[in-house]
Amino acid sequence: MSRFLKEQYQKLEAYTPGEQPRDMAYIKLNTNESPFPPAPSVVAAMTARQVEDLRLYSDPTAKGLREKLAGLYQVAPENIFLSNGSDDILNFAFMAWGQKGALFPDITYGFYPVFAELHGVEYLELPLKSDFSINKEDYLYRNKLIVITNPNAPTGMSMDLSAIEEIIRTNPESPVVIDEAYVDFGGISCYPLIEKYENLLVVRTFSKSRCLAGGRLGYAIGAKELIADLEKIKYSTNPYNINRLTMLLGEATVDAEDYYQEKCREIIRVRQQTAARLRELGFTVLPSDANFIFAKSGRICGEKLYFELKKRGILVRHFTKERIREFNRITIGTEAQMEKFCNTVAEILEEQA
Ligand SMILES: *Cc1c(COP(=O)(O)O)cnc(C)c1O
Repeated sequence: MSRFLKEQYQKLEAYTPGEQPRDMAYIKLNTNESPFPPAPSVVAAMTARQVEDLRLYSDPTAKGLREKLAGLYQVAPENIFLSNGSDDILNFAFMAWGQKGALFPDITYGFYPVFAELHGVEYLELPLKSDFSINKEDYLYRNKLIVITNPNAPTGMSMDLSAIEEIIRTNPESPVVIDEAYVDFGGISCYPLIEKYENLLVVRTFSKSRCLAGGRLGYAIGAKELIADLEKIKYSTNPYNINRLTMLLGEATVDAEDYYQEKCREIIRVRQQTAARLRELGFTVLPSDANFIFAKSGRICGEKLYFELKKRGILVRHFTKERIREFNRITIGTEAQMEKFCNTVAEILEEQA
């Protein structure tokens, strides 16, 4: 750190992304990427011509992609905001709407407190109930910026749509941001509620269910006025926030909806299989609607299991926070990868015994 850094940033504790190691080929079950490639039509959309065209700026209005997404969700293009990964949108949300403070669960996406700190937003981390579900009552009539991941991460657990609606309805003076990064794996989206509530912003990403984590593409669906706020910040920071290649691949992705829905069904099937196998091995597995499961063994501590798996070429995500340190978050890979994972876990447990 230099002595020139603004004081407010000196104490900032940056977000730690999951490992992206280059030392060997791991079975990577640690950052919730898709084990599948993008649809063949998406891969084919990238041509030498498209690369040559990189000399030109991208379309700052992202018109084509916006219209495609608007068509998919039956909303107006003015209800859609596009960004360089959905993290950008979450960042903008804290920047734009944090003046009265923010609320989110104690166990959720670790980036929220970082954004709050970055923008000097006061925040409260409200404890999940003992079963790791979100306590709806904590979020009613609060009139602060509310950010909820649904399904939640790293638990994978969903909140009822009726509970979400009650939170939105009882906080009319503040935006409610619902981060639906994992909704395609069995959750129910609340985006139709944007018709009814002007304080709802639904945040989505192409990184998980759309197999495009490295392309960096996220979007939000919300009332036109909220979208206009985000646009204002975008045009004040980085108008060309989405590169031409990603925009192109994003459009091809929306056109290949069937392919992605099939891959999501496959992930759900393998998730159920993996959870059942882990339960047979004595694990507690939280009920997941995401492309990962959150599990703890009564026989080996969370951190030890993480290290033993890593030694054997399998990466999962371990968090050190007190309440969840016995757990690991395991991304669902292909059926073959998960079979290898389960067999390896069984071996490790046997060696322990
Ligand atoms: C992965 C993830 C995101 C961010 O994804 P981007 O790659 O930035 O689009 C946002 N929220 C949650 C809860 C996530 O897990």
